[in-house]
Amino acid sequence: MSIAENIKRVRQRIEDACIRSGRNPDEITLIGVTKTHGADVINEGIAAGITDIGENRVQEITAKYDDIDKRAKIHLIGHLQTNKVKYIADKVSMIHSVDSFKLAKEISDRSLAVGRVMDILIQLNISGEQSKSGIEPERLDELLEEIQSLKGVFVKGLMTIPPVEVGNMNKTREIFRSLKKISVDKQSKIYDNIKMNILSMGMSNDFEIAIEEGSTMVRVGRAIYGER
Ligand SMILES: *Cc1c(COP(=O)(O)O)cnc(C)c1O
Repeated sequence: MSIAENIKRVRQRIEDACIRSGRNPDEITLIGVTKTHGADVINEGIAAGITDIGENRVQEITAKYDDIDKRAKIHLIGHLQTNKVKYIADKVSMIHSVDSFKLAKEISDRSLAVGRVMDILIQLNISGEQSKSGIEPERLDELLEEIQSLKGVFVKGLMTIPPVEVGNMNKTREIFRSLKKISVDKQSKIYDNIKMNILSMGMSNDFEIAIEEGSTMVRVGRAIYGER
């Protein structure tokens, strides 16, 4: 199966999930997660219609950056260390993994330094299980309040990664549903640089469930580019 064919199938599945849940497929952005893949593979996907790509490591972005077709927007979807922000502030269009004020502030400072405002998502850890990234939902209000003072970031929404629990799709669905509920709750908060429009949730194994539960950005790697 070629990348172009895989993309076609994934788009069809997105459309079917939208039909099942009464949604408009135009509301869903498909992010092709290209981590571990070389620029040739990445560009093949872009030529076949991928408009947004996701990478989880700063080092990979900087290594491949010059060779990647510039028509695609790059999303940083993995854990980001504060000291690495400076390498990507001028390269990515959105950062999905903000989980502390310190990180948000560094992104803001580095973005202003290159004359821009960065779109960010707050990563939530919904399952409550020990995980290295994402904040607990209870701490979201406090974080948003701190972030509203930052001029170099715009909070566009929320992101989550359910824990790996193969076969437990009910639990996954519950997590997606909670993220949606939290985003609706926070929508009413009036801050100049916070607007909860985006829900980044759903990967190869669960993007249809995520769409049924309100996702607006699905991050799909293996179903497009094959096993890593
Ligand atoms: C790797 C990765 C994905 C894509 O996972 P697949 O199972 O390949 O679809 C999505 N989101 C994040 C944060 C990732 O690291």
